[in-house]
Amino acid sequence: MQKDDIDFLVDNNSLTGFSEDHLVEWREDAVDIGDSLNTSIHISKHKIHPLVVGPLTELRKLAGMNGYDLRICSSYRSFPQQLKIWNWKVNGLRPVYDDRDVVVDLESMSKWRQIQAIMRWSALPGASRHHWGTDFDIYDATKIHEDYRIRLSPQEVEGDGVFAAMHNWLDTILCQDVGFYRPYDKDRGGIAPERWHLSYRPVAQEFADRLTQEVLEARLGDAKMFLKDVVLENLDDIYQRYICL
Ligand SMILES: [Zn+2]
Repeated sequence: MQKDDIDFLVDNNSLTGFSEDHLVEWREDAVDIGDSLNTSIHISKHKIHPLVVGPLTELRKLAGMNGYDLRICSSYRSFPQQLKIWNWKVNGLRPVYDDRDVVVDLESMSKWRQIQAIMRWSALPGASRHHWGTDFDIYDATKIHEDYRIRLSPQEVEGDGVFAAMHNWLDTILCQDVGFYRPYDKDRGGIAPERWHLSYRPVAQEFADRLTQEVLEARLGDAKMFLKDVVLENLDDIYQRYICL
């Protein structure tokens, strides 16, 4: 893939979740993984970057050949969607968890501590890798039934967790330089490890390189976001610890 030949359609809107013009629709059943893996889980469709269609199709096909029905539970997310998640968490309408999976009491914390607790598991609106169409949260549909509520918790993807086998298999694939990687593979002091989050590096890196602190600051300036003043006061620190990985 020649970088210079490709128009990545990266502008400040596609970087920060304000445009879907850089994305195409991709359906999970575009990939035939055979009848033996038929499950009751509904096929879903996703908006993804056109340059990720081929690699993602190949990965799903390869997973199918190895007995896994690799599905996506979260792909593109817009700025307004990410903002809603953020504001709900600040307002207590959605729980915020700590590393031990215990609900955090935000009210007992300073505003800066609240922000850090939320950002352990949720991206700042405008700075989510899910804005780009290059990043996905995945699961194995062969292991669950329709009424199973996917939580995306460490317990699901490690040890004897329901999706651990697929992720263990993925470890052997990702080390073969297939383009996909886990940007949150380990704890770097900000975002918690997210084994379920996959990114297609050759395209995602183009977005990551362009998401400067200035771009983010300009985007947040207009947003109706709770704790915005404290976020902007600490944006240097936030950018270094949570965004600039
Ligand atoms: Zn994710």
